[in-house]
Amino acid sequence: MTISENILNLLHDLKTFNFTLVAVSKNHAAESILEAYKSGQRNFGENKVQEMSDKQINLPSDIKWHMIGHLQRNKVKYIAPYVYLIHSVDSFKLLKEINKEAQKNNRTINCLLQVHIAMEDTKFGLDWNELETMLQSEDLDTLENICIKGLMAMASNTDDMEIVRKEFKQVKTHFDQYKNRFNHLHNVDLCELSMGMSGDYKIALEEGSTIIRIGSSIFGARKY
Ligand SMILES: *Cc1c(COP(=O)(O)O)cnc(C)c1O
Repeated sequence: MTISENILNLLHDLKTFNFTLVAVSKNHAAESILEAYKSGQRNFGENKVQEMSDKQINLPSDIKWHMIGHLQRNKVKYIAPYVYLIHSVDSFKLLKEINKEAQKNNRTINCLLQVHIAMEDTKFGLDWNELETMLQSEDLDTLENICIKGLMAMASNTDDMEIVRKEFKQVKTHFDQYKNRFNHLHNVDLCELSMGMSGDYKIALEEGSTIIRIGSSIFGARKY
Protein backbone atom coordinates (compact mmCIF):
# COMPACT_ATOMS: atom_id res chain seq x y z
CA MET A 1 0.00 0.00 0.00
CA THR A 2 1.19 3.49 -0.79
CA ILE A 3 1.18 6.40 1.62
CA SER A 4 -1.77 7.95 -0.23
CA GLU A 5 -3.75 4.73 -0.06
CA ASN A 6 -3.06 4.42 3.65
CA ILE A 7 -4.41 7.92 4.26
CA LEU A 8 -7.48 7.48 2.08
CA ASN A 9 -8.32 4.11 3.67
CA LEU A 10 -7.91 5.53 7.15
CA LEU A 11 -10.16 8.50 6.41
CA HIS A 12 -12.72 6.20 4.82
CA ASP A 13 -12.78 3.86 7.83
CA LEU A 14 -13.24 6.82 10.18
CA LYS A 15 -15.72 8.82 8.14
CA THR A 16 -18.36 8.77 10.89
CA PHE A 17 -16.05 10.76 13.19
CA ASN A 18 -15.22 14.43 13.17
CA PHE A 19 -11.49 14.91 13.64
CA THR A 20 -8.22 16.28 12.33
CA LEU A 21 -5.66 13.79 11.10
CA VAL A 22 -2.10 14.73 11.93
CA ALA A 23 0.28 12.62 9.84
CA VAL A 24 3.34 12.03 12.01
CA SER A 25 6.25 12.28 9.59
CA LYS A 26 9.16 12.14 12.04
CA ASN A 27 12.06 10.10 10.68
CA HIS A 28 10.51 10.09 7.22
CA ALA A 29 11.87 12.00 4.26
CA ALA A 30 10.36 15.09 2.67
CA GLU A 31 9.38 12.98 -0.39
CA SER A 32 7.06 10.91 1.79
CA ILE A 33 5.44 14.08 3.11
CA LEU A 34 4.95 15.29 -0.45
CA GLU A 35 3.28 12.05 -1.38
CA ALA A 36 0.83 12.46 1.51
CA TYR A 37 0.39 16.11 0.55
CA LYS A 38 -0.69 15.10 -2.95
CA SER A 39 -3.55 13.07 -1.50
CA GLY A 40 -4.76 16.21 0.26
CA GLN A 41 -3.10 15.81 3.65
CA ARG A 42 -2.09 19.18 5.16
CA ASN A 43 -1.44 18.55 8.88
CA PHE A 44 1.92 17.01 9.73
CA GLY A 45 3.49 16.25 13.10
CA GLU A 46 7.16 16.22 14.05
CA ASN A 47 8.88 15.66 17.38
CA LYS A 48 12.21 17.41 16.76
CA VAL A 49 12.68 21.13 16.18
CA GLN A 50 15.60 20.82 13.77
CA GLU A 51 13.93 18.16 11.64
CA MET A 52 10.66 20.06 11.48
CA SER A 53 12.36 23.32 10.48
CA ASP A 54 14.47 21.64 7.79
CA LYS A 55 11.31 20.17 6.29
CA GLN A 56 9.27 23.33 6.70
CA ILE A 57 11.56 25.47 4.53
CA ASN A 58 11.57 22.91 1.73
CA LEU A 59 7.90 21.98 1.59
CA PRO A 60 4.68 23.76 0.53
CA SER A 61 3.80 26.74 2.68
CA ASP A 62 0.20 25.69 3.29
CA ILE A 63 1.30 22.73 5.41
CA LYS A 64 0.23 23.01 9.05
CA TRP A 65 3.13 21.95 11.28
CA HIS A 66 2.35 20.34 14.63
CA MET A 67 5.06 20.02 17.29
CA ILE A 68 4.21 16.82 19.15
CA GLY A 69 7.49 16.06 20.92
CA HIS A 70 9.09 17.39 24.07
CA LEU A 71 10.06 21.01 23.44
CA GLN A 72 13.04 22.72 25.06
CA ARG A 73 12.62 26.38 25.89
CA ASN A 74 15.78 27.45 24.04
CA LYS A 75 14.42 25.97 20.80
CA VAL A 76 11.01 27.64 20.75
CA LYS A 77 12.40 30.54 18.72
CA TYR A 78 13.11 28.32 15.72
CA ILE A 79 9.51 27.18 15.28
CA ALA A 80 7.68 30.27 16.56
CA PRO A 81 7.45 31.93 13.11
CA TYR A 82 5.46 29.12 11.54
CA VAL A 83 4.28 26.40 13.96
CA TYR A 84 0.53 25.75 13.74
CA LEU A 85 -0.06 23.94 17.03
CA ILE A 86 2.23 22.88 19.88
CA HIS A 87 0.82 19.72 21.48
CA SER A 88 3.48 19.25 24.13
CA VAL A 89 3.33 22.16 26.58
CA ASP A 90 4.30 20.69 29.92
CA SER A 91 5.31 23.67 32.07
CA PHE A 92 4.37 27.27 32.70
CA LYS A 93 7.94 28.34 31.91
CA LEU A 94 7.63 26.81 28.46
CA LEU A 95 4.29 28.50 27.92
CA LYS A 96 5.84 31.85 28.87
CA GLU A 97 8.68 31.32 26.42
CA ILE A 98 6.23 30.44 23.64
CA ASN A 99 4.33 33.61 24.44
CA LYS A 100 7.50 35.69 24.24
CA GLU A 101 8.53 34.27 20.87
CA ALA A 102 4.98 34.54 19.53
CA GLN A 103 5.01 38.21 20.48
CA LYS A 104 8.29 38.75 18.61
CA ASN A 105 6.66 37.22 15.55
CA ASN A 106 3.54 39.27 15.97
CA ARG A 107 1.26 36.27 16.20
CA THR A 108 -0.69 34.05 18.54
CA ILE A 109 0.54 30.48 18.95
CA ASN A 110 -2.03 27.81 19.70
CA CYS A 111 -1.03 25.29 22.36
CA LEU A 112 -2.23 22.10 23.96
CA LEU A 113 -1.31 21.15 27.51
CA GLN A 114 0.18 17.67 27.62
CA VAL A 115 -1.18 15.59 30.44
CA HIS A 116 0.54 12.51 31.77
CA ILE A 117 -1.91 9.61 32.08
CA ALA A 118 0.21 6.58 31.18
CA MET A 119 1.46 4.05 33.71
CA GLU A 120 5.04 4.41 32.47
CA ASP A 121 6.87 7.31 34.03
CA THR A 122 9.03 7.81 30.96
CA LYS A 123 6.50 9.99 29.19
CA PHE A 124 6.43 13.75 29.58
CA GLY A 125 3.45 15.74 30.70
CA LEU A 126 1.67 17.41 33.57
CA ASP A 127 -0.35 15.60 36.19
CA TRP A 128 -3.89 16.81 36.89
CA ASN A 129 -2.84 18.97 39.83
CA GLU A 130 -0.11 20.72 37.87
CA LEU A 131 -2.47 21.23 34.97
CA GLU A 132 -5.13 22.83 37.16
CA THR A 133 -2.55 25.01 38.85
CA MET A 134 -1.52 26.32 35.44
CA LEU A 135 -5.05 27.06 34.35
CA GLN A 136 -5.78 28.80 37.66
CA SER A 137 -2.59 30.81 37.80
CA GLU A 138 -2.99 34.57 37.74
CA ASP A 139 0.12 34.85 35.59
CA LEU A 140 -1.68 33.04 32.79
CA ASP A 141 -3.76 36.16 32.26
CA THR A 142 -0.65 38.14 31.27
CA LEU A 143 0.13 35.90 28.29
CA GLU A 144 -1.35 37.77 25.34
CA ASN A 145 0.14 35.78 22.47
CA ILE A 146 -0.80 32.21 23.26
CA CYS A 147 -4.11 30.41 23.26
CA ILE A 148 -4.65 27.13 25.09
CA LYS A 149 -6.79 25.09 22.73
CA GLY A 150 -6.99 21.83 24.59
CA LEU A 151 -5.18 18.81 25.96
CA MET A 152 -2.86 16.17 24.56
CA ALA A 153 -2.38 12.75 26.09
CA MET A 154 -0.71 9.44 25.35
CA ALA A 155 -2.18 6.25 26.73
CA SER A 156 -0.15 3.53 28.38
CA ASN A 157 1.92 1.34 26.11
CA THR A 158 -0.13 -1.83 26.68
CA ASP A 159 -2.10 -4.41 24.70
CA ASP A 160 -4.91 -4.13 27.23
CA MET A 161 -7.31 -1.87 25.36
CA GLU A 162 -9.59 -1.56 28.38
CA ILE A 163 -6.81 0.26 30.23
CA VAL A 164 -6.29 2.51 27.21
CA ARG A 165 -10.01 3.26 26.97
CA LYS A 166 -10.20 4.06 30.69
CA GLU A 167 -7.31 6.48 30.38
CA PHE A 168 -8.88 8.28 27.41
CA LYS A 169 -12.23 8.47 29.23
CA GLN A 170 -10.51 10.07 32.20
CA VAL A 171 -8.98 12.74 29.97
CA LYS A 172 -12.34 13.48 28.34
CA THR A 173 -14.04 13.86 31.73
CA HIS A 174 -11.42 16.36 32.93
CA PHE A 175 -11.52 18.16 29.59
CA ASP A 176 -15.28 18.70 29.82
CA GLN A 177 -14.95 20.03 33.37
CA TYR A 178 -12.12 22.37 32.43
CA LYS A 179 -14.13 23.74 29.52
CA ASN A 180 -16.80 24.87 31.97
CA ARG A 181 -14.34 26.25 34.46
CA PHE A 182 -11.75 27.95 32.28
CA ASN A 183 -13.08 28.82 28.81
CA HIS A 184 -14.09 32.29 30.00
CA LEU A 185 -10.39 33.23 30.21
CA HIS A 186 -9.18 35.36 27.31
CA ASN A 187 -6.45 32.94 26.25
CA VAL A 188 -8.20 29.65 26.96
CA ASP A 189 -10.48 28.08 24.37
CA LEU A 190 -10.61 24.38 25.14
CA CYS A 191 -11.97 22.66 22.05
CA GLU A 192 -9.35 20.12 20.99
CA LEU A 193 -8.38 16.76 22.46
CA SER A 194 -5.26 15.27 20.89
CA MET A 195 -5.40 11.55 21.68
CA GLY A 196 -4.79 8.44 19.65
CA MET A 197 -1.85 6.99 17.71
CA SER A 198 -1.57 4.07 15.25
CA GLY A 199 -2.37 1.48 17.92
CA ASP A 200 -5.31 3.15 19.61
CA TYR A 201 -6.83 5.90 17.42
CA LYS A 202 -10.20 4.17 17.03
CA ILE A 203 -10.67 3.94 20.79
CA ALA A 204 -9.50 7.54 21.19
CA LEU A 205 -12.10 8.77 18.71
CA GLU A 206 -14.83 6.75 20.40
CA GLU A 207 -13.85 8.46 23.65
CA GLY A 208 -14.00 11.97 22.24
CA SER A 209 -10.66 12.72 20.62
CA THR A 210 -10.68 15.51 18.01
CA ILE A 211 -7.07 15.15 16.77
CA ILE A 212 -5.35 11.84 16.08
CA ARG A 213 -1.58 11.61 15.52
CA ILE A 214 -0.77 8.76 13.16
CA GLY A 215 2.73 7.77 12.08
CA SER A 216 3.42 4.14 11.26
CA SER A 217 -0.07 3.31 9.92
CA ILE A 218 0.50 5.94 7.24
CA PHE A 219 4.23 5.96 6.54
CA GLY A 220 5.20 2.44 7.62
CA ALA A 221 7.68 1.55 10.34
CA ARG A 222 10.27 4.18 11.22
CA LYS A 223 13.93 3.34 10.67
CA TYR A 224 16.28 4.82 13.25
C1 LIG B 1 5.62 9.11 17.14
C2 LIG B 1 4.44 9.72 17.80
C3 LIG B 1 3.13 9.44 17.33
C4 LIG B 1 2.83 8.48 16.21
O1 LIG B 1 3.06 7.17 16.60
P1 LIG B 1 2.61 5.92 15.69
O2 LIG B 1 2.46 4.82 16.66
O3 LIG B 1 3.69 5.70 14.70
O4 LIG B 1 1.32 6.28 15.03
C5 LIG B 1 2.08 10.09 17.96
N1 LIG B 1 2.29 10.96 18.98
C6 LIG B 1 3.52 11.23 19.44
C7 LIG B 1 3.66 12.20 20.57
C8 LIG B 1 4.63 10.63 18.87
O5 LIG B 1 5.84 10.90 19.36
